[in-house]
Amino acid sequence: MIIDGKAVAARVRAEVAEQVAALKLKGVATGLTVVRVGDDPASAVYVRNKIRACAETGIVSTEHHLPDTTTQAELLALIGTLNDDPAVHGILVQLPLPRQIAEHAVLVAISPAKDADGFHPFNVGCLWTGKPAPRACTPHGVMRLLDEAGVELKGKHAVVVGRSNIVGKPLAAMLLERHATVTIAHSRTPDLAAEVARADVLVAAVGKAGIIKGAWVKPGAVVIDVGMNRGADGKLVGDVEFGEASTRASAITPVPGGVGPMTIAMLLANTVELAARTVR
Ligand code: NDP
Repeated sequence: MIIDGKAVAARVRAEVAEQVAALKLKGVATGLTVVRVGDDPASAVYVRNKIRACAETGIVSTEHHLPDTTTQAELLALIGTLNDDPAVHGILVQLPLPRQIAEHAVLVAISPAKDADGFHPFNVGCLWTGKPAPRACTPHGVMRLLDEAGVELKGKHAVVVGRSNIVGKPLAAMLLERHATVTIAHSRTPDLAAEVARADVLVAAVGKAGIIKGAWVKPGAVVIDVGMNRGADGKLVGDVEFGEASTRASAITPVPGGVGPMTIAMLLANTVELAARTVR
């Protein structure tokens, strides 16, 4: 089975639109503010896509675009203003930031109650201690794909390749919460093939085209490919050798059209959830 991330993301967006409309009836206009510093071209595209997705679901979005000479103090002052603004339910600071600004200082300055990306250490702590809080969008989207595909996680061996703060680590916490036995592999793992071969559920989040060989995949495994790599021909490819892996896997996500569309959908879901909390 090919897991259709586009279709699942469309369902999530439709749910969000319904929730936004219901909040509107209660007098709450769900609002997301995106802060972009500097002129990184990829960031400009990501932010444009996020703003467009907000409009489609009725979320009121505002973009603050600051010059790349912005100081950390100036950015923190803006975040302080947004933290205090009741019309702003979610705040997202697009990464990467220019060199003079410390990412950690910015992430901790965002109110945890407005942390649409789920990157605040308080919210990360909530995730690991089983408390409700906004969750990082990409791993949150992976969990939704697994649920939609009807994958039972309890007692299964899940292997996550990659341990970044935005994908691998939070995903491991989410799989553990759902009673999987979780292995996290990374660049110092001596025998990646052996780890992958033991996975009932395999998630690749490395950023290296085809690093996971199809022949390593356990027959019947569920394979989720988070990787997004541009080939020499400009085409987007994942971390998993899709052709051979798809003949062995019981379910697999394609690249593109798998995890990719889920990230923005879950950002919208996080934002409307933060808005809903203000009326509970
Ligand atoms: P990072 O570069 O932050 O992390 C990559 C991880 O892969 C690290 O933990 C690293 O290990 C590990 N790794 C590197 N080389 C190897 C290797 N040879 N064997 C095993 N592990 C290795 O990347 P991200 O987590 O930010 O992103 C991962 C991929 O997912 C990228 O392709 C990115 O584009 C994509 N992505 C896609 C999203 C989407 O919306 N679909 C959203 C976010 C990311 P170590 O820690 O030891 O260095």
